Amino acid sequence: MRIQLLPAQLINQIAAGEVVERPSSIVKELVENSFDAGANQIVIEIEQGGTRLIKIRDNGCGIDKDDLSLALSRHATSKIASLQDLEQVASMGFRGEALPSISSVARLTLISRIVNADCAWRVCADGSERDFNPQPDPHPQGTTVDVRDLFYNTPARRKFLKAEKTEFSHIETVVQRLALSRFNVGFSLIHNQKEILTLKPVLSDAEQEQRIAGICGSAFIDNAIKIDFESAGLRLNGWVGLPTFSRSQQDMQFFYVNGRLIRDKLVSHAIKQAYHDVLFHGRHSVFVLYLTLDCALVDVNAHPAKTEVRFREGRLVHDFLFSALHRSLANVRPGKTIESSI
Ligand code: ADP
Ligand code: MG
Repeated sequence: MRIQLLPAQLINQIAAGEVVERPSSIVKELVENSFDAGANQIVIEIEQGGTRLIKIRDNGCGIDKDDLSLALSRHATSKIASLQDLEQVASMGFRGEALPSISSVARLTLISRIVNADCAWRVCADGSERDFNPQPDPHPQGTTVDVRDLFYNTPARRKFLKAEKTEFSHIETVVQRLALSRFNVGFSLIHNQKEILTLKPVLSDAEQEQRIAGICGSAFIDNAIKIDFESAGLRLNGWVGLPTFSRSQQDMQFFYVNGRLIRDKLVSHAIKQAYHDVLFHGRHSVFVLYLTLDCALVDVNAHPAKTEVRFREGRLVHDFLFSALHRSLANVRPGKTIESSI
């Protein structure tokens, strides 16, 4: 067989294989876009576990009418323009893949209005069309992405979708993780017209702990110490559970790097080591931790879903995490804030 260039829609569908695993992956990508747009209010409307409808509305900066069709094109992004930008990317997105991938496996409508525009503009995409003709719409400032009938044109992938309840519980988990990453953003999650989760933007430390308690349970906050360490340009803050408040599963471990939830061997190792002497064998620690460091010191371009990162100075990060946590756990007293520089 001779070599041929694949049609655009098929290229996007191949990319969708990596980015759109299930409805919850769409929610993650769209909410991250809302974060990048500076939104502080996000409404997530779901029907039938996200297979029938995923609709995300934000009050962010919006998209210029003339950029709407680019937003749906592959490798088109407003977030980076050069290799230098890529090496110190601070936004959640940068690959320019989510919207074209989603629109290649579902029916997508994008409505957006920028500040001071007379009206909003709407484009519809079902993956095949490349020439969009924006229509005026009364939408307020911000963006709504409406995604319907997921995998309607890829029946083989549709078969892998689980029951509505299961898919929605994945969505709920994703929204909780996202909500822990941006306290300044209010969220509303609706499933089949029923309000499931409402979180107001957080204004005080007490409200911060309320949000954590709402997501991780009040027992977590009652059994956690608040920490804040800074050294050599690295900051680690958040809440670590007392060794007496462990779990049999690793289901309450949230680690964010520059606002992005990640899974990383080096990080897990440092945390495990710190808890090593104080935790019973076979038990797992609980934590909500935020590592902040110069974006140039962490490479987020390691995986399409961006849940993996590479630290440029892995040893430094590992040792910083270990000693911050080791110190915290050596001084455990509930309700106390441990702050120090190492
Ligand atoms: P990426 O986030 O990697 O840039 P996406 O396909 O997710 O790629 O989005 C493409 C572009 O569309 C973004 O770069 C951004 O300019 C625009 N965009 C998408 N969603 C929003 C939104 N909610 N608000 C404002 N702009 C958006
Ligand atoms: Mg994106």
